[in-house]
Amino acid sequence: MKKLYVIATPIGNLKDITLRALEVLNSVDVIAAEDTRHVQKLLKHYGIFGKKLVSYHNYNEEERAEKLIEILKDKDVALVSDAGTPCISDPGYRIVKKAREKGIEVIPIPGPFAAAVALSASGLPSDKFLFVGFLPNKESEREEDLKYYIDLGFTFILYESPKRVLKTLKTLEKLNPMADVVVAKELTKIHESFFIGKPEDIINLLEENPDKLKGEFVILVHPNQEKVIDIDSILTEAKQLKNQG
Ligand code: SAM
Repeated sequence: MKKLYVIATPIGNLKDITLRALEVLNSVDVIAAEDTRHVQKLLKHYGIFGKKLVSYHNYNEEERAEKLIEILKDKDVALVSDAGTPCISDPGYRIVKKAREKGIEVIPIPGPFAAAVALSASGLPSDKFLFVGFLPNKESEREEDLKYYIDLGFTFILYESPKRVLKTLKTLEKLNPMADVVVAKELTKIHESFFIGKPEDIINLLEENPDKLKGEFVILVHPNQEKVIDIDSILTEAKQLKNQG
């Protein structure tokens, strides 16, 4: 049996690939990729040609895993995803699982992982964190999950589509208005930006500048259970008590 290499690839900037990743991509005969056109761009950029490409997606991964196991009998295979680390909010784990079941050696080649990239530059507490990935589609489930992550009390990291960033921030504002939030956009790309503040600050900024809502996003949240002190209501309450007494 040959080896299965699990290779992390850039999340934007094509220079973010390791020497080891390039060495392995050069040496293998077969590359399993989500979107073969996508990986071809990377290979072309680095002058790597003549590889057999096998595509895999969530819907056909089981079947492709069987095919790749056959190939692995006499050829090394590199597994890549469209961006970042395969198997993380991306397909691939079924192929790795099957390879492990067959006793095939699986070798990780580390590199970019958008959540870690965002966290490293966020300035949020990072001694302990939870990687959530994408929230469920259903609003009630999203809210329930967010409540759970907020209660844990440490930094959590979400992947979010541009269409839902505002929606998620609004739910967050409702559940934990004092949370410290960092929205990391287009990491490693030309329009890389970080929006930092309470949920309301970032909502206002994005609503005033809808053009900023294009691209890829990571949302990082450090929950903050401090209560917002509403001085007016405290004064009114005090007055009422005084009048009663
Ligand atoms: N496997 C990838 C990884 O290692 O991070 C994640 C793939 S997942 C299908 C794609 C999501 O990751 C995007 O919707 C976005 O939330 C996040 N992402 C990927 N690249 C990004 C980037 N350059 N800037 C910000 N977020 C990014």
